[in-house]
Amino acid sequence: MDLKALIRDVPDFPKPGIMYRDITTLLKNSEGLSYTLDQMAAKATELAPDVIVGIESRGFIFGMPLAYKLGKSFAPVRKSGKLPAPVHAISYDLEYGQDRLEVHQDAFTAGSRVLIVDDLLATGGTAAATAQLIQQMGAEIAGFSFVIELAGLQGRQKLPGQASVSSLVVY
Ligand code: IMP
Repeated sequence: MDLKALIRDVPDFPKPGIMYRDITTLLKNSEGLSYTLDQMAAKATELAPDVIVGIESRGFIFGMPLAYKLGKSFAPVRKSGKLPAPVHAISYDLEYGQDRLEVHQDAFTAGSRVLIVDDLLATGGTAAATAQLIQQMGAEIAGFSFVIELAGLQGRQKLPGQASVSSLVVY
């Protein structure tokens, strides 16, 4: 299936010069959505994760149904101040400034195999910070699963070298 045809390109969003890849047009296509999750599930099954971690917020959209399909648990990684119970946190650099991601301290146990899911891999900063946070908690990175990869930004190079990285649509 041609997933690229289901992803909407929005020029100059959120700022001039950015071509935003919008997955809402993929989500509203039921066949495209099923195909996307089936493909992600097939790759994820090979990695035998114990837990799926979704990165706020579009990582939740794909991560949760993936956890359900695999019969595994799900943990959200959220922006600062959203999670109610004690958290582990990591700060990471953005193009301008810094951001902070958090996960509940009891989201998974040390030694768990964690699959990190997001809609899109761009520079890799968000996924790399998430991986670092998970590793600091003593868990293992089973791999990364993205719907979209912007290959020109070389985000893969920021991710842990031995980890499996899969994406369904590459720009
Ligand atoms: P990175 O940290 O530079 O790899 O950026 C990845 C994060 O930015 C992900 O959480 C994406 O959801 C978001 N993102 C960056 N560009 C786009 C886009 O074109 N469409 C949708 N999300 C994007």
